[in-house]
Amino acid sequence: MAQKLTKRSEDYSSWYNELVGKADLAEHSDVRGCMVIKPYGFAIWEKMKEILDAKFKETGHSNAYFPIFIPKSYLSKEAAHVDGFAKECAVVTHYRLKTNETGDGVVVDPDAKLEEELIVRPTSETIIWNSFGKWIQSYRDLPIKINQWANVVRWELRTRLFLRTAEFLWQEGHTAHATKAEAIAEAEQMLDVYADFAENYMAMPVIKGLKTESERFAGADETYCIEAMMQDGKALQAGTSHFLGQNFAKAFDVKFSDKEGKQEHVWATSWGVSTRLMGALIMTHSDDEGLVLPPALAPIQVAIIPIYKGEEQLAEITEKLTPVIESLRKQGVSVKFDDDDNRRPGWKFAEYETKGVPVRLAIGQRDLANGKAEVARRDTKEKNLVDFEGVDQYIVNLLNEIQENLLNRSKTFRDENIREVNSYDEFKEVIENKGGFVSAHWDGTMETEEQIKNETKATIRCIPFTEKEEGVCMVTGKPSKGRVLFAKAY
Ligand code: AMP
Repeated sequence: MAQKLTKRSEDYSSWYNELVGKADLAEHSDVRGCMVIKPYGFAIWEKMKEILDAKFKETGHSNAYFPIFIPKSYLSKEAAHVDGFAKECAVVTHYRLKTNETGDGVVVDPDAKLEEELIVRPTSETIIWNSFGKWIQSYRDLPIKINQWANVVRWELRTRLFLRTAEFLWQEGHTAHATKAEAIAEAEQMLDVYADFAENYMAMPVIKGLKTESERFAGADETYCIEAMMQDGKALQAGTSHFLGQNFAKAFDVKFSDKEGKQEHVWATSWGVSTRLMGALIMTHSDDEGLVLPPALAPIQVAIIPIYKGEEQLAEITEKLTPVIESLRKQGVSVKFDDDDNRRPGWKFAEYETKGVPVRLAIGQRDLANGKAEVARRDTKEKNLVDFEGVDQYIVNLLNEIQENLLNRSKTFRDENIREVNSYDEFKEVIENKGGFVSAHWDGTMETEEQIKNETKATIRCIPFTEKEEGVCMVTGKPSKGRVLFAKAY
């Protein structure tokens, strides 16, 4: 019997790491901070990509591709941007190796030094705005709405599979607009796209809001974010959308002439979600037995396991199951019929449980005689003997029910773990002993935010769009424009 996962209640972090391995999602590579995404993990990421990509296209964006290398001088053009990213850049300085003196290895060829160093992109605003400068002359060239699927490198020191890696996969949207209002509307729209994806596909409720100045993207005027709560009560920033003002247009001198022929700098946005969403998905739903996947993102939605002895029985069961499988596939359900003779049914049950397959159907000789099949759902682990007649429709309904249940379950958990407090003592007590999100008044200054962070390790996750109640800061007693959400975060 395979070894069980560490329980979440005992050590959440070990549970997470073990689960990523056991569910065959990813593993550490020999390159520090970089991961190998295994086929099953990649299949989930591909589903995410497919759905998001369609949503970007529906909202008028086109995919394009820009180089992985950014000349150092580009990155330096926007002061706040380079400040924010300088500490985590991988830099290419040479373009050739040569055999070493002893002839048994290679060294960097000192004669092959690049005239200008290249930065492996940590994000692509600079290289894209350099191109936008060539593409934009007049108001007729606007808006430009581009998306890129790519890998980026940020030399992170504390890394965790999916959640924070030195190289990660993501999409980055970059748009250029004639007006400030249009750019803000775009940034808001894309945040809504992310929130919709999180809730309706990942079954993960999120809170939409603004980042504070200290958490803002380097080079943005405003960062909008979606924040999710993981099962251990910690926050995870699941996606960001930035209103970049005219900062990059000014840095790269990108102007357009308006209808009256007047020259103006272009307005910008950028927005991104990454393979971090995989970590978010795992930590929102999974349990001590393994991964739990919402049907909308499950590469295999139904695993069908025949229980048989010998060819003849298998042929009989297969014949009976074929129309069910066909019907499910016709309705867009992804089915795996696992008649692999080298594995026992018990092993298969455990395997699909660990991998979070939403529904399992098992059928043996006795079930066949009784016109029944056993259907198990992964989210609640309930098992039912179901009439074989109409089992296809039963499964389609069950998949919808599981999707809905997962969202309700995570929403209930999230809501139960958001607590309003009105004093700093109460705040410290809740952060220390209960965790979750804490909704409290803050005076809007970086100093107070920093003090709270140093004293409690909690940071302001976001200023929710919905918060309008005025009050006084729990720390300084100064006026507050509205409650903000604090939490310890990943
Ligand atoms: P940013 O460009 O910093 O706004 O980040 C864009 C998206 O990438 C956000 O959704 C982040 O959650 C995610 N992200 C940032 N850094 C990492 C990292 N080191 N590993 C994985 N995802 C990341």
